[in-house]
This record gives sequence, C-alpha cells and structure tokens, in this order.
Amino acid sequence: MYIRSADATAAFALTYGNMSGRPKAREETKYLFVHKHGVNVPKWPHRLMSMIDLAAFHAYHPELTNVTGRLPYHLSVWQDSAIEQGLSLLVEAPHALALSASSISVAVMYDNDTAIGPGSTQYEALKLVCREIKEYFPIIEVVGHDEKPEASNIANKQCPTPIIDMNLLREQLCQTTGK
Ligand SMILES: [Zn+2]
Repeated sequence: MYIRSADATAAFALTYGNMSGRPKAREETKYLFVHKHGVNVPKWPHRLMSMIDLAAFHAYHPELTNVTGRLPYHLSVWQDSAIEQGLSLLVEAPHALALSASSISVAVMYDNDTAIGPGSTQYEALKLVCREIKEYFPIIEVVGHDEKPEASNIANKQCPTPIIDMNLLREQLCQTTGK
C-alpha cells in the first residue's frame, strides 16, 4: 500500500505528546470504520491538507471535534487519492466511543463546502485501504460510522453518508477479495 506517512510521527506526538501515558494498544480488531471529514473546518485559516493538519485541528479545537483533542483516525484518504497514516494501526484512536477499542478508522476527506464526495481515483484509494486492512486483519468488518448508533453521541449522524454508499462499497470489496 502506498502510504504518505512522513508526518505520522509528528501527528502522533501532537496527539499524545501533552498527555500522560501512551495510547492504549488495541486488544482486538473487529471493525474498520469508514468516516468522512471535511477539509474546510471552522476556526482554521486554511483547508486541511495533511494528517498533521488534521491532528492539529483536533488538538487546538477539541470543543469542535471529539473533545479528546486526539487525532481520531488511523488513516485518511485525501482528495488527490493519497493515503496517509497518522497513528499506529495497533493503538486505539478516539473515533467511535466504546467501539474504538476494537476498531481501525479511515477518514475520507472531502470538500464540505461543496459537499462533493470522492472522485473515482479517491474512491479507488479507499477500496485499496479496505482491501489491505482486510489482508492484515482477516476477520474485520467494514462499517460506516453511522451504521453503528453506539459509535456516536449525535443522533441521526451522517458519516460517511451521503458521500459513501457503504452497501455498495462492501459489495465491491467482496467482488475483489472474495471475502
Ligand atoms: Zn465519523
């Protein structure tokens, strides 16, 4: 898998550097959660362009995000189809409340001003991530954030809908991997 991860160490430090203790190592891996994340965010002067930007946004504006101030995604798929890793796949990331303890997260980055979802190359990159993660973690189930109500405090949350059709994605993954 091509992963742009030069900044991963910095994202990791920004996420956990000012907190006591290390991130918890995950003991089980049951789900790959697919999320969406807008590149245009409030209180931030520029569009988000990298995992380190995403980590900084969450660190500086926990009140707007998941409150923990920590980077919530292990992986992101950018609009130019670059795949970027921000956290070890073996630690917990705060993206799905209690289900974070048993899951990996990938965020599909999109232009939330226009609400235009992934183009074909970005979507192919997402499928590549899903396939590779399924190789490493064979029992994993690919789910959308809003398919698991217990994974969010927000009622009627839309993530990654409407920009990703999870049923279609799973169908396409089955066709290519046979799993
Ligand atoms: Zn989400």
